[in-house]
Amino acid sequence: MTDLADSPAVRRLDDWDVERLESLAAEYETPLYVMGLDRVKENYTRFSEAFPDADVMYAAKAHTGKAVLEAVLEAGGTIECAAWGELQRSIDAGADPNNLQYTAVNPPAHDLDYAAELGADNPGLTITIGALDTLERLKERDYDGRIAIRINPGIGTGHHEKVATGADAKFGIPYERVPEVADRVREEFDLVGIHAHAGSGVLTDDLEDHCRAIERVGEMARRVGDDELEFVDVGGGYGVPYREDEQPLDLEKTSDMVRDAVGDLEAQLKLEPGRYIVADAGLILTTVNTIKEAPDTTVVGVDASLSTLIRPAMFGSYHPMLNVSAPDREPIEATVGGPVCTSADVFAHDRPIAEPEREDVLAIGNAGSYGYELANQFHSQPRPAEIALEDGEARVARRRETLEDVTRLEE
Ligand SMILES: *Cc1c(COP(=O)(O)O)cnc(C)c1O
Repeated sequence: MTDLADSPAVRRLDDWDVERLESLAAEYETPLYVMGLDRVKENYTRFSEAFPDADVMYAAKAHTGKAVLEAVLEAGGTIECAAWGELQRSIDAGADPNNLQYTAVNPPAHDLDYAAELGADNPGLTITIGALDTLERLKERDYDGRIAIRINPGIGTGHHEKVATGADAKFGIPYERVPEVADRVREEFDLVGIHAHAGSGVLTDDLEDHCRAIERVGEMARRVGDDELEFVDVGGGYGVPYREDEQPLDLEKTSDMVRDAVGDLEAQLKLEPGRYIVADAGLILTTVNTIKEAPDTTVVGVDASLSTLIRPAMFGSYHPMLNVSAPDREPIEATVGGPVCTSADVFAHDRPIAEPEREDVLAIGNAGSYGYELANQFHSQPRPAEIALEDGEARVARRRETLEDVTRLEE
């Protein structure tokens, strides 16, 4: 078991060993993802210890890299997947398919083919449906196994409207229709759970809203008969502080409030954190290539871009930054951006940062979740390498792409 004695509730950029980071940048070049697998295990263990009798699944889509999945499995975790590729990658990393859960959202035919076949050989697989169509389509594939119903609680929470899924009609069975869908499932399948995933980026101050959605999940579980369910899954969405002045999620309070909200249940409580497990385990190293004095700011050009980390461009996300080459230099207000031709390719506007010089290495923090996973090849940029740190050792978890990797599939 991972020792939590020295595990803080959050790891800030200042907590990393800057000399180590500089030498990683020198050895493996930039932009570079660095992923601390010990921290992944600590985060999983800390979270599951806060919910001692619950089942904590890691939501793979936050980071589906093999090294990360292996770390979660090593910490005793199980895995929630949202696509067939995530299922296969979890199995490749050593997961028992009988412990996997597949959350189907408008699932493409191939995903259902794959899941139905996996379920035929592995009766422990659970498929979560958010539409009756999915049930019909599973039946067409002779699937009659374990089903959980994703409900739409009608309330969403989260740090950005694009990830507040709880009230979005796209996700889950409309609340009032759930009992009738439950009856329908019970006719031909094994109804094992009720599920909802209401949002993302929930910090301590958001818990009340978050728990209002969870209350509805508990209520519905009792309405459809919690004594006949195996689990009630309240999803993920647990946040990490991205800003330096934000406080980490109070896990003890979270656990108390979630339990209170979901109420008395015969069924087991289940949670599916993604971001919480991996966000602060990862960062990006990037090298400064340009310093330009502009009328209102200093523009700092770096070799990472929105194709390396798309969250600031896509969600307006704040990521902490640190000049690891010279953390003690006097700060200036800098606008830090990459080589992509859109004004969205900016990691920070007017951000105080120890005055960067050309060739300095900067770190972009909290990049472990939805970071590499959303990396792309826009501007014909090969995707970066990823270094895994574990037990004091560094190794290449994923090599840097070459231009050949970018063009390989062209006929
Ligand atoms: C994305 C997702 C999660 C994890 O969300 P986080 O905000 O990363 O915790 C959990 N469950 C489902 C069904 C998801 O789609």
